[in-house]
Amino acid sequence: MLPKFCIYCGRLESFVCVRCQGLFYEKSGFIAAKGLDNCLVGFVYNKALEYAIKQIKYAGYYRIAGQLAGILVEAHAAQVNDLLNDAIVIPVPLAREKLQSRGFNQAELLAREILASINSQQSNPAARQPHILAPIIKRVSHTTTQVGKNKDWRRRNLSAAFQIDFEVQIPLPAGQNLPRKALLIDDIYTSGITLEICADILRSNGFEQVNGLVLASAKKTIGY
Ligand SMILES: [Zn+2]
Repeated sequence: MLPKFCIYCGRLESFVCVRCQGLFYEKSGFIAAKGLDNCLVGFVYNKALEYAIKQIKYAGYYRIAGQLAGILVEAHAAQVNDLLNDAIVIPVPLAREKLQSRGFNQAELLAREILASINSQQSNPAARQPHILAPIIKRVSHTTTQVGKNKDWRRRNLSAAFQIDFEVQIPLPAGQNLPRKALLIDDIYTSGITLEICADILRSNGFEQVNGLVLASAKKTIGY
């Protein structure tokens, strides 16, 4: 296990040290994200967080994902509960080649950790809401080099790489209809184009509300 360092000041204490908690609250919250009704972000992307996320993706320090998800959920429990309420939780898929080499999708790992954190906050197990996690979007082809291509071409190319995976079994509780609300989960928000494409696919397949929950964003957050 890596030592815990504050992702804002580097102090060896916890991922958000006592001194930097104000900074965390100021910078985490909702951002305006193309194609999404609401998008909640936990952290502003910086060098230290980049390092922490790389440890999750490439060195297998899964517990870091759990701890960062825990901080996000604890700080914004009401908002996370709203996003989860009557929603199907969908991790943003990885390209197949990446999934094969990495062995796991960090967005799916984050989704599981977020649900585990929310459940652990509810002390009465009987009162826990059933959450529906289903990776119903798949990536069908590897998007190769995009250098020299224009923005529209890149967008069409990327758009064609995402599809609904109709073979995925959705673990719906007995008697419950398929929700019309979706919560997309991803690790990093940069241009937002992947989330926007995923949201488009969901809307064209009958979803009425599509929200996002992202661990870190390169954009400044805007608050509630
Ligand atoms: Zn700090």
